[in-house]
Amino acid sequence: MIQDLDFGKLDNQYLPLDINDEDFVVCVCGSKLLAACDENDILTLPTWKQVREWSSAEDWKLWTDCPVKYAFNMQGQNYFLWMGEAGQPGDDRFKYEGTRYYRQLPSKNICFALMTAWHLFVWYRANRFCGSCGHPTVHDAKERMMRCPECGNMIFPRISPACIIALTNGDKIMLAQHAALKTKRYGLLAGFIEIGETAEEAVAREVMEEVGLKVKNIRYYKTQPWGIVGNLSLGYFCELDGDDQVSLDENELASATWHHRDSIPPEAADDGISLTREMIRVFSEGKEPK
Ligand SMILES: [Zn+2]
Repeated sequence: MIQDLDFGKLDNQYLPLDINDEDFVVCVCGSKLLAACDENDILTLPTWKQVREWSSAEDWKLWTDCPVKYAFNMQGQNYFLWMGEAGQPGDDRFKYEGTRYYRQLPSKNICFALMTAWHLFVWYRANRFCGSCGHPTVHDAKERMMRCPECGNMIFPRISPACIIALTNGDKIMLAQHAALKTKRYGLLAGFIEIGETAEEAVAREVMEEVGLKVKNIRYYKTQPWGIVGNLSLGYFCELDGDDQVSLDENELASATWHHRDSIPPEAADDGISLTREMIRVFSEGKEPK
C-alpha cells in the first residue's frame, strides 16, 4: 500500500520548527500540488530557497501570520506547507497536478507525502476561523491544534473513518463498481462510519444499504490513511449470512457481483497503492483472516 514506504515511516509529529533553505515546501493551488517530474518520472518538490526566489509572503494571500507551517519529516527531510493559495512558480520544471496524477508515478514516497500534506492543508484551510464563535484561530505552540483565543475552542486534525468491506461467500468475493466513478473500476463495498456507531456496525449497515445482504463473522484486517479525501480507511472481511440475492442501491453502485477467488478481473489487480486492492489480492491468495 502507498503508506508502506521503503525506508520506514513518515514522522508526522508536529514540531514548532523554523524553516531552512533546503526544506521542502508543499504549495497548493486549487486542488493541485506543485512538484517537478523528471524524464524518469521521479518527483521532487521545491525547496524553501527556490520558493523564495519566485515569490514572497506579500505576493500570496496568507491565512496566518507565518507563510509556512511545519508538516512532517520524511527520510530526514523536513516538509513545510505554504499557508495559502500558492502562486505560479518562476521555474517551469515545476507544475501543479492532482494527487490522482501523482499516484500513477513511481515516486510512491513523495506521492504519499503529497497526499498527507494535502490532508493537513485542507484541515488548516477549513479551520482558519473558530466554528463556535467565528473568531480567527491561532496555532497551538506545542501540538497540531488550532485554538480560538476568544472562546478557547480547541480544533484537532480531522480524520474521517470509513470502512472498506470485503464481503465473501465461500470462495467468492463481492466486487462493486461505484456509480459516481467515470471509469468502472472494480472495488469493494465501502462507506463512512456514522457518529455513535462501531466500525463493525458500520460494516453490517453499509452491506445492507448497498446490496441488501446480511453479514456474519466480521474480522478486522488493516487500516490505511487516505489523505486525498481526509479518510482513515478500516479494512474488514465478513461473510454472507443467508440469502445471496443482491438488492442494489443504484444511487451508490453501478454493479455488485460475486467473483471466484481464482478469477478476479485484471481491473481489480493489486496496484500496490490502495487497501481495497490489497484485500482483493489477499482473498485471491486465500490469505484473508479466518
Ligand atoms: Zn471561538
